[in-house]
Amino acid sequence: MRPFTYVEGISVADAAAAVHAAPAAMFLAGGTAIVDLMKLGVLAPAALVDVQRLPLGDIELDDRRARIGACVRNAQLAEHPEIRARWPVVREALLSGMSAQLRNMSTVAGNILQRTRCPYYRDPHSACNKRVPGSGCAVQTGWDRDAAVLGGSPHCLAVFPSDLATALAILDAIVYTRRGDGGARRLPFDGFHRLPGDTPERDTVLDHGELVTHLELPDLAIARRSHYFKVRDRASYDFALASAAVALDLERGHVRDARIALGGVATRPWRCTAAEQSLRGKRAELASFRAAADLALADAVARTHNGFKIELARHVVVRALSELAARPG
Ligand SMILES: Cc1cc2nc3c(=O)[nH]c(=O)nc-3n(C[C@H](O)[C@H](O)[C@H](O)COP(=O)(O)OP(=O)(O)OC[C@H]3O[C@@H](n4cnc5c(N)ncnc54)[C@H](O)[C@@H]3O)c2cc1C
Ligand code: SF4
Repeated sequence: MRPFTYVEGISVADAAAAVHAAPAAMFLAGGTAIVDLMKLGVLAPAALVDVQRLPLGDIELDDRRARIGACVRNAQLAEHPEIRARWPVVREALLSGMSAQLRNMSTVAGNILQRTRCPYYRDPHSACNKRVPGSGCAVQTGWDRDAAVLGGSPHCLAVFPSDLATALAILDAIVYTRRGDGGARRLPFDGFHRLPGDTPERDTVLDHGELVTHLELPDLAIARRSHYFKVRDRASYDFALASAAVALDLERGHVRDARIALGGVATRPWRCTAAEQSLRGKRAELASFRAAADLALADAVARTHNGFKIELARHVVVRALSELAARPG
């Protein structure tokens, strides 16, 4: 690890300004992602600005929304009784990932801003456009079992790994930020993560020094019947090979409305609007769910070793919808 300075943020504005002023500075939250990458030599920030003591650690709720501070711990969010009742997919996504220790330490903002687990990104000796822009992409000629089947480009095929982000993709979530120059932004979650295109080094639309301050979840009737289903190599804890966040609004056995997003298979949280549309008005039964799953994966492109993910993701969507439809209420 290279030497770096450590600064504790004393206010939201100061923390954002401090990172904004120093091109090689980064925010530090729970440290469970960034410190790993520093140890591996993937990241070498000259300064870390710790945001954990900023007043961003509360969950506020009313009838219209939940306002979740950026520094709320993932465990704290998963265990909140109202989050569990009104947005169960959030809790299920969080509990499907990490260990209990990691959930206790890590934060909500750090979760949606974690980098890919692509093994070449995490190896400083490999070519990787995400780590070193213009250096190439080792996956193109290398081991592509983990690579994305949706949203890739010739410059990067890395899967975006956050389970929480997959859940937020179906909830009309909003990200609030404070910029280093003093401004603030309100960013709809469906535009927050970028496709890699020819600039895969940028995962999100955030500018350097832009601090996430809160997430907002609007109250949505459909979110009360929502579910996360995830398949991984190792059941104890692991990242998704394929996962689905789903929500259903049902009336007398028919689908009034549906939400579907995929995780583990795409370069960003992947909302499946055509699949959702196909379910509206249909009977909530296996045939409808299979047709929706086919649509969700219709644009998927397999490489040498990752073709299994397409079929797996279809099954994951069908299973998630079937389990949810069978729930009482
Ligand atoms: C062994 C292991 C297993 C894991 N398994 C899973 C899994 O199955 N599913 C899953 O989804 N995740 C998994 N994770 C990832 C985990 O979710 C992240 O490590 C964690 O959520 C990061 O949160 P943090 O607070 O520690 O972030 P940090 O490591 O502190 O920061 C992460 C990034 O976010 C930036 N950042 C942090 N806060 C802010 C802010 N407020 N504004 C702007 N930028 C900010 C930092 O600069 C950094 O770039 C796993 C991690 C480990 C180590
Ligand atoms: S897929 Fe993306 S992260 Fe992986 S090596 Fe290629 S450029 Fe790097």
